[in-house]
Amino acid sequence: MLRLYNSLTRKAENFVPVENKKVTIYVCGITPYDTTHLGHAFVYMSFDALIRYLQFRGYEVTYTQNVTDINDRDKDILQRAKEQNVSWCKLADYWTKKFLKDMRDLNWKMPNHYLKASENITEMIDLIERLIKNGFAYQKNGSVYLDISKKKDFGKLSGFNRKKMLEIAKNFDEDIDNPDKKDKLDITLWRSSSKNQPVHIPSFDSSFGKGRPGWHIECSAMSIKTLGEQIDPFDKLRVNGEHYRTIDIHGGGIDLIYPHHEAEIAQSEGATLKSPFVKYWMHVGTVYYKGEKMSKSLGNLVMVSDLLKKYSANAIRFLLLSKKREEKWEFEEKDLIKSEKQISLILKALKQKSKENRDNDKYIKKFISLMDNDIDTPRALKLMIDLAHKSETLPLKTIFSVLGFTL
Ligand SMILES: [Zn+2]
Repeated sequence: MLRLYNSLTRKAENFVPVENKKVTIYVCGITPYDTTHLGHAFVYMSFDALIRYLQFRGYEVTYTQNVTDINDRDKDILQRAKEQNVSWCKLADYWTKKFLKDMRDLNWKMPNHYLKASENITEMIDLIERLIKNGFAYQKNGSVYLDISKKKDFGKLSGFNRKKMLEIAKNFDEDIDNPDKKDKLDITLWRSSSKNQPVHIPSFDSSFGKGRPGWHIECSAMSIKTLGEQIDPFDKLRVNGEHYRTIDIHGGGIDLIYPHHEAEIAQSEGATLKSPFVKYWMHVGTVYYKGEKMSKSLGNLVMVSDLLKKYSANAIRFLLLSKKREEKWEFEEKDLIKSEKQISLILKALKQKSKENRDNDKYIKKFISLMDNDIDTPRALKLMIDLAHKSETLPLKTIFSVLGFTL
């Protein structure tokens, strides 16, 4: 039985999808204004291994990922567009293509739904209207905010206290000092366009006036649209109807737990009036480099495209899968050199003629037992090395392919 660590309940649980043998999964995507660094790759490769394993076990997986090509913030993509004097959509398009190339080079399985926030504005407006109607949101000066005091279980995913939330919200550019907010921690759902707004900032029409959606509502809307209320989404006659579907797995980097995922839960459950929005929450640890969290502001990014000039995609995948999903770790080039050597050993073993193998089932069972334990890829890789040493080509080939390595 597959067991997954659920960040919501903070324990490993038996994995039972809502529909038998069908799994819906949403992973928060990138804000496209720079290239893919190893931290991104760790998130997406961790979920790639999970998805490939679910498919190997016979599950039909529907996977959605978003592109945050617009949001309510003044920083990141919009600031970059202004600095470079290009439109936000051109900038987003350019970096999304770069990201997809990096991921393809790493043999990433493309999601079934890959959505741009800017192309799903209607769905976001619909959700915000439902939140207002249900009494979870309020309008002020053309903007709309989520009233967190109305969502009594706000904070259930992170378990953070108010002090910690305020500290993180400030770092996340959550506009906590906005006087229009009833509570500093209220979430921006719609940010009104200001007068004489520069052209690099997008603006859309809505029933609340011209503006743009908040970052967090984007993922609520795109996940519900593609994985939740799949039949006739946003048909207002069915707001509380039978068509709501809990999403099986929702994931992302561990730093998204608060405010992003906490906001997503409050928005989605507030709009649909159904709970839970998601059954299993899964998070991926942070990558460090030179003693600090890999981040743009610190300038210590290790880019996937640079690593691919020196190392094989298999070696990068091997390094990423040798780390436990939830844990933070430090990138050291010597580990990648070691991964390359291990991949060479495996590839050499795979070239050997497979011996008559009566133990194939035994090793595949072993692999399944490791992966069933919260997708324990570090131990699955150790099994691969062991099989390479023993020249057990047949099971090695199966595991190599299930984990997304290529010949
Ligand atoms: Zn998201």
